[in-house]
Amino acid sequence: MKSGRLVAQVTGKQAYRVSIWINGDRLGYVCSCPAGADGDFCKHCVAVAIAWVEQPPPRTTSELGANANDANVRFTAAEGQCLAFVYYFTKVNRRAATISDVRSFFDLAQIAAATLLDSLEQRRLIRREPTGAIHLSVSRAEIPDLE
Ligand SMILES: [Zn+2]
Repeated sequence: MKSGRLVAQVTGKQAYRVSIWINGDRLGYVCSCPAGADGDFCKHCVAVAIAWVEQPPPRTTSELGANANDANVRFTAAEGQCLAFVYYFTKVNRRAATISDVRSFFDLAQIAAATLLDSLEQRRLIRREPTGAIHLSVSRAEIPDLE
């Protein structure tokens, strides 16, 4: 999508209206949920962005079998969600996520987010620049879907 606007309805406990558009080389977004109204890249925006960015080809059963075989236990479900967030955030925003992005998305306290990222970095699942930019050190195939 070079230009134009993607409007989607995300239905959860409540239905929210999400708009995503390209503004120059930046991504614009707005969502009718409370977090979106504050200007956050909320989970509804993420859901719509993922649906837009990711249009995976249908998987064959042999691929599914292969994935099941090398099911990895390198990180917990929560850590997997953090890695998925970093992956999609970077893809959608075209800049690396920082601890404050992780904090606001998962609604974490500073200490909790710092602990989570330290732990991921110690296990070389991510690496961080001195600027705070977070980069994934795992391949896309290892990352779970963002829930
Ligand atoms: Zn929202």
